[in-house]
Amino acid sequence: MQLLWLLALLLLCAGLALVWMARRGRHASGLPAGAVVYSDTGAEQAVPAPLISRRYGLIGKPDYLIEARQGTARTMIPVEVKSRNRPGTPPSGHILQLATYCLIIEDIYGSAPSHGVLRDADGSHTIAYTPDLRRAVLEAAERIRAARTAPDVPRSHQDAGRCAHCGYRQGCGSQAL
Ligand code: SF4
Repeated sequence: MQLLWLLALLLLCAGLALVWMARRGRHASGLPAGAVVYSDTGAEQAVPAPLISRRYGLIGKPDYLIEARQGTARTMIPVEVKSRNRPGTPPSGHILQLATYCLIIEDIYGSAPSHGVLRDADGSHTIAYTPDLRRAVLEAAERIRAARTAPDVPRSHQDAGRCAHCGYRQGCGSQAL
C-alpha cells in the first residue's frame, strides 16, 4: 500500500513538473496567454496558407496568431518575432506590419484585436491597435497600390541590410543599396 502511495506521489510530482516546464517555456517564448491557432514558424501547429483580407486587398503571415480572452469575448492576437535586438521603441515599419495583421484579422474574424505583440531578442512590445494606426495601414496600402503602376518609386530608406535580404532586389527600380 505504501508503495502505491509513493508511486502516486511520484506521478503527481512529475505532472506538476511538466506543467511548470510548459509554462516556463511559453513565458520564455514571449507569447501571450492563449491557444496558438496559427504559426508560420514551423515550431507549432503549422498552417501554411497566408491570412487574406479580400476587403482591403491585404495578405500576411504573422509568426503566431493567439486566440486570447478580451473580457468575456475571444480575440485573435498577432505576434511577430524579430531575431535582432532593437532596444527602445520598435521601428515604425515593424509596427505597421503588425497593424496590417490586425486589420486582416479584423476583416477575417469580424472583430478587431486590441493589440498585437512584437517580440525581439530584447523582449516583448505590446502595440495597441489604435484608430490612428489602422488609418496608417490603409494609407500605406493605398500608397503601395499607387506605386505599383507608377513609372518611378524613390527608395524610402537607407538600410543596406534591408536591401540585402529583399526578394525584389534583382528588379528593383529604386537602386538597391
Ligand atoms: S532592394 Fe529595392 S525594393 Fe528591396 S528594400 Fe531595397 S530599395 Fe526597397
